Amino acid sequence: MPMELKVIYLPQMANFCYMVGDEATHTCGVIDPAFDPQKILDKVRDAGYTITHVINTHGHSDHTSGNAAIIEATGAQLCIHRADAEQVTRLLTRVLSRFMGGKGSPKASRELEDNDIIDIGQTSLKVLHTPGHTPGSICLYTDGHVFTGDTLFVGAVGRTDLPGGSSRKLLSSVREKLYTLPGDTKVWPGHDYGSSPSSTIAVEKRTNPFT
Ligand SMILES: [Zn+2]
Ligand SMILES: [Zn+2]
Repeated sequence: MPMELKVIYLPQMANFCYMVGDEATHTCGVIDPAFDPQKILDKVRDAGYTITHVINTHGHSDHTSGNAAIIEATGAQLCIHRADAEQVTRLLTRVLSRFMGGKGSPKASRELEDNDIIDIGQTSLKVLHTPGHTPGSICLYTDGHVFTGDTLFVGAVGRTDLPGGSSRKLLSSVREKLYTLPGDTKVWPGHDYGSSPSSTIAVEKRTNPFT
């Protein structure tokens, strides 16, 4: 059974939130809900899906400020890498989340590790630990698609000057974990910072000036 992908654009900070839907069970995961959780809930409901998983590519509030509202509405489990798990509930993140129209996130129900598999119905997402933007940044891979958070953008990479950032680690994450994926894999970034909303691994490898 194929998966259904929905791109939900959140214009406040040009974020992309993604719905990864399992067509067999009509359950779905939501990657990086922020800013406008009601819009996300409405889009998912209109598509006919039930949210079972909220997955954060990292702990920054522009990717997590919608966690609380989505989880309260659906009872979904929250998945985030072990190294960023503490950050989502930290005071600064809670304060920033309020500025973004959300509130403090609940704790992770599952702390992820490299190569973990998240099963959404019959659809699986593989966790690629890609530290650099933050220590617990992850990308999520399923056949033909990779969700890259703030690790890899179309034509750019995430900033590494924030606490816990490392440009050396980010570059090796991109080269070792992402550029080794099949070239035709679609790249779905965490922000709309490029000339197009998405790209492919082959195109980024050939043209991204930062890598
Ligand atoms: Zn970030
Ligand atoms: Zn971001």
